[in-house]
Parts: sequence; C-alpha cells; structure tokens
Amino acid sequence: MRVTDEVFIVGGGIANAFGLSADPDCHVYLIDGGDELALIDCGMAAGDSLERILGNVRAEGLDPARITKIIVTHYHMDHAGGAARFRERLGAEVIAPAGAADALRTGDERAVALDMAKAAGFYAQDYRFEPVDIAREVHEGEHIAVGMLELEVIETPGHCDGHVSYLLRGRERTYLFAGDAVFSGGRVVLQNIHDCSIQKSAESIAKLARIEFDALLPGHAAICLDGGARHVALAFHSCQSLFVPKNLV
Ligand SMILES: [Zn+2]
Repeated sequence: MRVTDEVFIVGGGIANAFGLSADPDCHVYLIDGGDELALIDCGMAAGDSLERILGNVRAEGLDPARITKIIVTHYHMDHAGGAARFRERLGAEVIAPAGAADALRTGDERAVALDMAKAAGFYAQDYRFEPVDIAREVHEGEHIAVGMLELEVIETPGHCDGHVSYLLRGRERTYLFAGDAVFSGGRVVLQNIHDCSIQKSAESIAKLARIEFDALLPGHAAICLDGGARHVALAFHSCQSLFVPKNLV
C-alpha cells in the first residue's frame, strides 16, 4: 500500500488495521531510497506472512531483492520476531537499537518479555524466538542511509528498554517511525512487563514532542500523513497533567 512515493506499508495483521500479512504483525513499512530499499520492522514471519509481505512489495512495482536493510524499532515479537527469517530470505542486514541487540542475538525470551506475553495468551506456547545476527547497533543521533535517504535514530524507551524511533527527512515530508512509543490520538502501549516504564515513556514522549515532523507512522493502528505532531502533543499534554496517556489496547 503506497503511503507516498518514498514510503509504503507492506505488512501488518488484520488486528492492526491493514490485513496485509498475518496477525499479530505490526505495521511493516518499506522505504524506497532509490537504489536501495529498507524495511522498518518486519513482523513475526509466521505462516505465509513473509511471502505475503514480499508479494506486497512486488505489487508496488518494487523488487524485494533490493531490500538491503531490516531496521528494527524494538525487540517485541510482533515487530522483530521474523527478523532471522527475513535476513535469511533476503540476505539483508539487520540493524537494531544497541539496547535491543543482545536479546535479539541470543533469543532471550525473558529479556523481551516473551514469557509474559505467552502466559497472557498473545503468542502460542510452542512459539520460539529465533535469534538473529545484528549487523549494526544504533545509538541516539546516528544516521542510517537508505539509498539517497537517511534515517536518524531517536532513543525512545518506556514501552520497553532499548526502543528507538526513526526520523526520515524525505523528499516530500518528514516521517516519524514511532514503533510502539506513541500512537494516533496520543495513545500509548504500557504493559505489565519488567522493562516497561511510565516515566521513561513520558520522557520519550516529551522528546518526540520537541521534534518537527509531518507524518506519524506508528507500529499499530491509524497513521497520519500531515500534522502528525498533534498526536504526540496530545500524549505530551496528558503526561504534563500527571496522567498516563490512554492505552491503545
Ligand atoms: Zn512493542
């Protein structure tokens, strides 16, 4: 699904609004940087999800073989659980936040709260988190080239440790790939897991509220092409009032 000439949505489960791949995949974004393509998050690659996502890339007239980077916002399974399979299928490098890299490399189910998520029924008991080689760990302020375009890393912990968002200054617009840091309507996803922090989430929202951008492209639910900063401002206002922004779920 074309968002603009430089950003596409190529995956995401029915529960996440688009029905472009299997549940519980997050929104899977594709950036077209000209001579190079990159995915922002990749979902779980459960069942036929990986092939459906690659089919969606082809349907946009783009060649999946040109995907050279799989760029991860955080280590939750609906965002990064399929990274090993995508890496193997595409021969692409996986780029992850420094704070998420160890858990992704080792497949540490407790570190990524998969044990809690399984107990809560989000994932099948027999689901296994496949470790993945991380080619590059990124930190605050670093840049990632995608062809002619460039992403900037913004560390936004709170939803979980090691979470980052990515700012893309495109030809048409500035896009914030917010992962699970903040959603449309100023919503958040704060969960009863060991590495979720209301205070860190509020600090991350305050940080994002200082950034100028047009499109808010979160990992779930609605997207916003222009005026996306207004959604972050709603969350910021809730935090300033000492309240926790409403949860998305
Ligand atoms: Zn998450």
